[in-house]
Amino acid sequence: MTAPAATVDGFVAEFLQNLNLERGVTLTASSPNDRYVALAYTVRDYLIARWLEDRRHLRETQAKTVCYLSAEYLLGRQLQNNLLATDLTAIATEALAQCGVDLDELRDLEVEPGLGNGGLGRLAACFIDSLATMSVPNIGYGIRYEYGIFRQTFDDGQQSEQPDAWLALGSPWEFPHPEAAQTIGFGGRTESYVDDEGVTRARWVPDWRVRAVPYNYMVPGYHNGRVNTLRLWSAQATDAFDLRIFNSGDYEEAVRAQTYAENISKVLYPEDSTPQGKELRLQQQYFFVSASIADFIDTQLADGADLATLPDKVIFQLNDTHPVIAVPELMRVLVDEKGMTWDAAWDITRQCFAYTCHTLLPEALEVWSVELMGRLLPRHLEIIYRINDEFLAAVRERFGDDEMRIRDMSIIAEFPERSVRMAYLATVAAAKVNGVAELHSQLLREKVLPDFDEFFPGRFINVTNGVTPRRFLRLANPDLSALITEAIGEGWVTDLERLRELEPYADDADFRSAFAQVKAANKRHLSDVLRARDGFEVGEGHMLDVMVKRLHEYKRQMLKLLHIVTTYENIVSGRVAVADVQPRTFLFGAKAAPGYVMAKRIIHLINAVGSVVNADPRVEGRLQVLFPPNYNVTLAERVVPAADLSEQISLAGKEASGTGNMKFALNGALTIGTDDGANVEIRELVGDENFFLFGMAEPEVEALWARGYRPSDFYAADEDLRRSIDLIASGTFSDGDRSVFEPVVSNLLYDDRFMVLADYRSYIDEQAKVDTAYADRDAWTRSAILNVGRCGFFSSDRSMRDYIDRIWHTPLAM
Ligand SMILES: *Cc1c(COP(=O)(O)O)cnc(C)c1O
Repeated sequence: MTAPAATVDGFVAEFLQNLNLERGVTLTASSPNDRYVALAYTVRDYLIARWLEDRRHLRETQAKTVCYLSAEYLLGRQLQNNLLATDLTAIATEALAQCGVDLDELRDLEVEPGLGNGGLGRLAACFIDSLATMSVPNIGYGIRYEYGIFRQTFDDGQQSEQPDAWLALGSPWEFPHPEAAQTIGFGGRTESYVDDEGVTRARWVPDWRVRAVPYNYMVPGYHNGRVNTLRLWSAQATDAFDLRIFNSGDYEEAVRAQTYAENISKVLYPEDSTPQGKELRLQQQYFFVSASIADFIDTQLADGADLATLPDKVIFQLNDTHPVIAVPELMRVLVDEKGMTWDAAWDITRQCFAYTCHTLLPEALEVWSVELMGRLLPRHLEIIYRINDEFLAAVRERFGDDEMRIRDMSIIAEFPERSVRMAYLATVAAAKVNGVAELHSQLLREKVLPDFDEFFPGRFINVTNGVTPRRFLRLANPDLSALITEAIGEGWVTDLERLRELEPYADDADFRSAFAQVKAANKRHLSDVLRARDGFEVGEGHMLDVMVKRLHEYKRQMLKLLHIVTTYENIVSGRVAVADVQPRTFLFGAKAAPGYVMAKRIIHLINAVGSVVNADPRVEGRLQVLFPPNYNVTLAERVVPAADLSEQISLAGKEASGTGNMKFALNGALTIGTDDGANVEIRELVGDENFFLFGMAEPEVEALWARGYRPSDFYAADEDLRRSIDLIASGTFSDGDRSVFEPVVSNLLYDDRFMVLADYRSYIDEQAKVDTAYADRDAWTRSAILNVGRCGFFSSDRSMRDYIDRIWHTPLAM
């Protein structure tokens, strides 16, 4: 098959044909959704021939394939990205205009697939974009949640969660393949039997099954004609299951059984960094991992391929612990189904997996109770026990009968209940374990898993995260992209280190002025978007100070809020003349996990402070607090290019990497940040003079914690802090009701693991330096240009190259 002609006429013809044949309407009778879907189909038509060819070629060559296993992909909208990848944006715009259709209007009809919570899911989406652009054979495997991350609205300033029915109008980007469904077992028991050769073997007899139906999505590379595949699984009831119950005449029970099965891919768990030990979540994990392994072996490997060579054919990259049940699953397939010996299977398995750890928070390390695991996956529990027995025997051999160490390293925890430590299982099985920024990888080795680092020398490595320059610079910031391309050519889009060539332009007054104009235009554009969306306005001439990310105590939105309250309090008490205040618009974006009560209180407080500050005439509009609801990728693409100041203010040692920080720096925002995650590397690259550093470093945090952190000492010692906290406690932001935010205040004063008050003074002082620096707008712009020019390292293409060199050893092109 061949693609339609890449001309305006060719595009028009294909678009009109898709309206007729796929939507059954004429252009005049079409609805906006008809036109959007026909446009999406048209873009698809340009990609399909290459996609089919790439998949055929991959099966034929059996080139080593990166199977990225991730429970989340926070993709963002597809239409514009796919137009960009195929270089069809100009042609499509003109073609649609000829049909009297506005491309931008159709673009805004697309509901983004929010199949992820935040950074971890967005990272997966950036990685598969980079792999396609670098022509690396890759299949992304995950779950096609019917409802992605909830849509956030505010009700009197409080978060309310609405279901995200992203599939209500169907998705033109997906290709269902019910014929390629896999059957996934759950529950039941294991039994042993003697095979034909007299060998005693184990097998699993599940007592219920679910069908996993794959949906394929195209992942086009940028301007290289390459199209990789994202394969997401959807759960359906099996026919057999239905039939058995139907035959018993119990219609209601049959429907209930169907609902039960289909629940597995119904909804994304909206927790970020705090897994809940929910049975359905373990079902989801096993469901997609089991389907993916079977799919790879069935559809990717040549018939009769020798499974002993599996490590030459595939690497399964585990995105956090969510897919770690893949380890015992591959063992089960190789030993129970393919008849391999345990040792041969383990030798293969150890080479086929690599594990990426995304956290340092102890509460984020996933564990499953042995009771649940044994009930849902009894054979897997047996396999995990055997892996653990052999591992602990090796530990004993090496370190002697050090029972303390044995207990600490066991994959099975005994307290508070017997449970499986998924991060340990992953570490024991993986060829490589990586952290996601230098500091994080170092702390992982030294603080979280030191025994494992000692036992497995060389296993722990670092790969610093990155973001795709296609979506987060080229697409999100077209004007800056044009300016960069004008200066240094367009090679930077796939070779981001070339942004270095911008450095001399920082000293070019004309370039600085053009750069500043782009930033101002991006702010006006954001203001237009927010006005239409929420009735908000970004103040003319304001510094745009942005904190957008999931709401979590460790990220410390409260610290940002204390800065706002302090500035406000200083004005209304007359201590600071309002004319001397640098006008700022503070912009927040953040969803809180629905069950995370403190996070939701903080959202409420941000909105409450915003209503009071924004309405107070004494502030003369010089401070504004905006909190547009439902922060997602689409909103990020509008906010990031407009920001002047990027807030990356987590407690040092808590943010594994961050990727929002990279997006902002690449778009010419300066960072105010702690020495945490990838902030450390950003600062090293851009230089101290182009970065606002504050707060304790990780060793100081540790030391203060060890001494005993007493927030009330900081409260007592700092007048600004006392006045700000007292203002919140007084009920000023809650119509005089002191009880509303009392839990937030007492948390800060008595019970804050994330030490907001300890970093307050340093933060406030650094913010004063930010104001001073912003007053010299030309010098600020110079710093902003240097941030862009020096952050090419943070391309996810570079991250992928590091994975290839240090972990996967896959060929660069197939
Ligand atoms: C990049 C991104 C994130 C991650 O932001 P951090 O600041 O690194 O936590 C979260 N959500 C969305 C929508 C993003 O685009």
